[in-house]
Amino acid sequence: MDHNHINPFDGNLEYWIEEGKRMTADRQRRIARARRWKFDTTAVHGLYDAKEALERNNGSIMEPVYLSTAQVYHNSAELEAGLAYLMPNWCYTRIANPSNYFLEETTALLESYGTGLEASCLATGSGMSAIRTATEPFLVLDDKLPPINIVTTAKVYGGTFQQFAVRRGVEQGMEIRWVKESTDLEEWRRKIDEGTRFVYGEFPSNPSVELFDIEEVAKLAHAFGIPLIVDSTCASPALTRPLQWGADIVVQSASKVFSSNGTTIAGLLTARKDIVSRIGCEEMKGDFATWAKFWPFRDNGPALHPMGAILTLNDLRTLRSRMAQMSRTAMEVVSWLQEQPQVEEVHYPGLESYHAHDLARRYMQLVDSEERLYGYMLAIDIRERNHEDSTNARKFYDALELTYRATDLGRIKTVATLNSISTHQQQGEEGRALASIKPGTCRISVGMEDPADIIADLEQALAAI
Ligand SMILES: *Cc1c(COP(=O)(O)O)cnc(C)c1O
Repeated sequence: MDHNHINPFDGNLEYWIEEGKRMTADRQRRIARARRWKFDTTAVHGLYDAKEALERNNGSIMEPVYLSTAQVYHNSAELEAGLAYLMPNWCYTRIANPSNYFLEETTALLESYGTGLEASCLATGSGMSAIRTATEPFLVLDDKLPPINIVTTAKVYGGTFQQFAVRRGVEQGMEIRWVKESTDLEEWRRKIDEGTRFVYGEFPSNPSVELFDIEEVAKLAHAFGIPLIVDSTCASPALTRPLQWGADIVVQSASKVFSSNGTTIAGLLTARKDIVSRIGCEEMKGDFATWAKFWPFRDNGPALHPMGAILTLNDLRTLRSRMAQMSRTAMEVVSWLQEQPQVEEVHYPGLESYHAHDLARRYMQLVDSEERLYGYMLAIDIRERNHEDSTNARKFYDALELTYRATDLGRIKTVATLNSISTHQQQGEEGRALASIKPGTCRISVGMEDPADIIADLEQALAAI
């Protein structure tokens, strides 16, 4: 049949499968085009172009927000082809949405930038739901397999600690093996075994900016036929692309530097094609993010609102330049803080004195540049009378004026958090010790203000001690 001369309302199943192939080929062409661009160009344009704007979106130069729960089909044949996943379609906004698709495609390109790898991405309603969606499929119960364990860096975001320790550990009886010295490969090696379903690490960790050797840990995981999942929220693909170093899946809390303007909670899960896993069907291993979208994500329902997808995408376009400015400012702030007598220790991967500076140098660099940059997040330990005390830290914190007191980071505005009473409050003494959180630990997320103004604010706050 001559495809072009059939009225779509008359198209049969074959017609729609053919139409699906055309749509897929068009997408492949757009991906190939974007792969010839630099990082910034990819972030600005993604897969969207003038042709798509004119043919499908009334000429809108910006990707539209599709505020619609569902898609209409020409006829039953298209509905059948679409719902059987025989052709690309978005169907229902809990599963997919064209606005979310623009964000997902751009993210997949940025996370795989310069690697030659094919990747796909799934946008979720929060960073926590991205972590859950990325990890849960590996935790299926199977009596024939050894008891389940998870090997993960102990220094993780407070929410991640709770998700693993309480939701997986306490409620589901899974063993969580915390890697305390994440730079010690021997410790990783000792903890991974036949029962390990996946290996997980935060790079760098929030808030203690701890690192691990992504490439070597990926090798250890792969030797057991299991995936390495990395949360690189605090580095972002502008500095670190874990897929390049062997990670199978990357998660981002897009609520952070992906969308510095701070309007939206969102998560992103990006997987390379053909991940390593002993668990799961071929479809899951072949294209994890797409499989997750079609099955568990659809069934569990942590969808991202299309408005949130476009708000995130609009910020993502300038990710590289924001990361550059924020990281340069952070370095200036760090240099100044190191000189201050009220500050016992400054934790920042960019410091030569930082214990894992070699790993920072290896894995963090401004994309499309020779410049070594280390991100916007730093932590300081305020000098106290003893290690149970937080009097001085609280005096400093309460005196901040320009800097916001909030549990937030990656923001265009500088934000500071006292972690022991906020992000890491629920996990108790022992959990905080695991994460190296002292009562006087203060995390500072450096924003886009002029460095002199940030330093002036910190100076007047330190003077309050
Ligand atoms: C904030 C954060 C998360 C959780 O993301 P939400 O979008 O808040 O759900 C996960 N990991 C890291 C490193 C974070 O900073």
